[in-house]
This record gives sequence, C-alpha cells and structure tokens, in this order.
Amino acid sequence: MPGFEVLGEEEKQEILGVLERGVLFRYEFHNERKGVYKVREFEQAFSHYVGAKYALAVSSGTAALKVGLAALGIGPGDEVLTQGFTFVATWEAILDLGAIPVFVEVDDTLCMDPQDLLKKIGPNTKAVVPVHMCGAQARIDTIVEIARANGLKVLEDTAQACGGSLKGKFLGTFGDFGEFSFDSVKTITTGEGGMLVTDDKGLYTKASQYHDHGHVHDPTLPRGLEGRNFVGFNYRMMEIQGALGLAQLRKLGFIISRQKENKLMIKEELSKISSITFRNILDEGGDIGSFLIFFLPSQEEAKWFKKSMDENKIPNVYWYENLWHYYKRWEHLLEGKSVITSGYPFKDSGGKTRISYDENALPQTEHLLSRAITIPININMEKQLPGILDGIRKIKSQWTA
Ligand SMILES: *Cc1c(COP(=O)(O)O)cnc(C)c1O
Repeated sequence: MPGFEVLGEEEKQEILGVLERGVLFRYEFHNERKGVYKVREFEQAFSHYVGAKYALAVSSGTAALKVGLAALGIGPGDEVLTQGFTFVATWEAILDLGAIPVFVEVDDTLCMDPQDLLKKIGPNTKAVVPVHMCGAQARIDTIVEIARANGLKVLEDTAQACGGSLKGKFLGTFGDFGEFSFDSVKTITTGEGGMLVTDDKGLYTKASQYHDHGHVHDPTLPRGLEGRNFVGFNYRMMEIQGALGLAQLRKLGFIISRQKENKLMIKEELSKISSITFRNILDEGGDIGSFLIFFLPSQEEAKWFKKSMDENKIPNVYWYENLWHYYKRWEHLLEGKSVITSGYPFKDSGGKTRISYDENALPQTEHLLSRAITIPININMEKQLPGILDGIRKIKSQWTA
C-alpha cells in the first residue's frame, strides 16, 4: 500500500534540487527557477502515465474531489451519488459544495453496484462518484454507460487505486474526471497532495482556475494582472510535493509488482481454507495488489476469524467496525453534525432539515462488509510474510477442527 516504504535517495535529490533553486511556488519566479517547474513536470508525467490529456495537481485528494465537482458545476440542491463504503473524504467534498451525497450499495467488487445506482437516480441527480476501493476496479464501464444514458457526470475516486487499470485502460480515465490522492498512506505519496485528470480541455481550464483563486493563467500576462472568470479558492500544490511526486511515480511500477507478488502468496495460503471466498476482482492484471479482501460465510465466522488473526499477529482490517470507511459508522453524518452555527448543510437557514440519513439504508453493503476481512499488503514484507503464512496455517487447523 504505502509509497512511504520506498522513500529514499531519489526523493532526497529531487527535494534538494528544489531547495537549491529556492523556488517553492509552482507559478512565477521565472528567472530564479531556471526553467524548472516541478509541479508542472509531475502533471505532465502523470497524465502521460495514465493516458489522459490533462492533469492538475492540487493540495490533497479531497481537494481534487472538490475542485473536480466544482468544475462540473455541482452545487446546492444537486444530488451526487457515491457509495457507502469509501473514505469520508468522498462525501465531504460533495457536502462542502452544498450538494447532497446519496449513497449507493456496493456489490461483491466492494465498489458501486450498478443495479442499485440505477435505482437511486432521481430528478436532482447531477453526478456519480464511484470509488475504486482498496486498489481494484469498480464496474466503471457499466457505471459510465448508465451515467451517460441519464445525463450524469462521472468523477472517479481513484485515491486508492493509482496505477490500477481495467482491460488495459487506466482507472481514473473512464469518466469526466479522475481523482487521485498522494497522502501519506497512499500507493505513491507526496505527504499531502492530489491530482485530477481529464481529456476535456474546458473542464481542465475551469478546474485549474478554480484551484488558484480564479486566475486565468494567461502566459502573456504577469500573474498580478491576470483577470478572473469566477470566484475560486486555493488548492495549489507546491514545488517540493511536485518533486516528490516525480520520484515516487518512477517507482510506481516496482511498488505494484511487489505488492502483487506478496498478495498472491498470502492468497494462495488462504485459498486452502474451505468456505473462504474472495472479493470479486474484475481484472486481476489491473489490480494494484494493495489489499487482499476475503469473505467468511457469516458475520460470526468473520469475527472468529479476525480474532484468530489478531492472536496470530496477522495484520488485518475489519472495515465493518472501522470508523472512517463505512456508512453506518459515520455518526457525524447520520446525526447531521455541522461546525456551522445554523446547522448547514444539514439544515437550511430557517432551521429546517434539508438532508437526513437512515443508518439502515444499505443492507447489501452491510451484508458484505460484516463478513469481509482485509489484509493490507505492503511493498516490503520479506520479514513479515513467513509469520503471516504460518499464522494462516494455524488458523486453518483450528477452522476445520
Ligand atoms: C485518501 C482518500 C481520499 C482523500 O485523499 P486525501 O489526499 O487524504 O485528501 C479520497 N477518497 C478515498 C477513497 C481515499 O482513500
């Protein structure tokens, strides 16, 4: 999973280069920077890597989600469909624009269920944000088809699947926008950072302007004399992050291949246990190998299995009880808690409730997550692997007994 495992000399040299030139800002300082624009270089390398025409680096994955939705024109009253198994950032970005997140079930891919997506489309639905959760593909071609047929925009949350693909096409390049995160636990990291990719020049231009106070980015004008087309904000990435991103991106192929090797070894051992089934991966070749997820037949068996894994010191995540990734655990959302005194966006200025959620709204997601156990896969697992495989063998002997 984490690019921090391979931070090394390459990152150090890139950062030193930035400090030697003494330019931290991605724009301006044309003489001092001697023609070197690290954030721009990172954008170009990234768009080339995923095969998108345009890329915009921003300050975080959450910012990328918000900037993308803003460029798509999403705002108050609009409904945006996303899924009940994701990181809170996905729906925070929607709420932050005043739009309303509507939650769709996941299926055995643990990503958005297209059947349920169809059911949740309503008169106010404007966009869909499917999430390629835990390193593998959503049914993105079907989701995009449904969205197009219903006049909806698609922003792919690819924060957890950088470098992943479906049938040879990179995740993040199927919809109108793809969003990526480079936070400190993601597959490649710049500490904090994010990226938006698109093939649409108009969308790119809007996103680029919105993320930088509305600046029109006219190369013939000094920055201070640039005009604005609309009100923006500051979600800029800085040069040190761009430099880090370049060094990390060069390691992405290595990271993915190591993760896949490690994942396969653990999966082979787990496959020997009867009644375990694995998460449906639509295209094994395009999985980045960052998580291994399997199902037990019942919630009771999953709990027993998790306990046995803890006892055998096998790293694991039980998303069903996790406070940050599952709809039922988002009590601040379910209870409509806002920092804003009026209660917005959950209440309108008159104190009337405008958004509310039912914690039992996603029974299919519950049925899947309550039986799912996850092993996070690292890049460097040589020391850990024998213990993990041994632990699985021990659990197997108790399981069949
Ligand atoms: C990490 C993550 C984000 C947000 O990225 P940050 O860079 O941490 O803001 C968004 N969506 C998902 C699914 C994530 O895992």
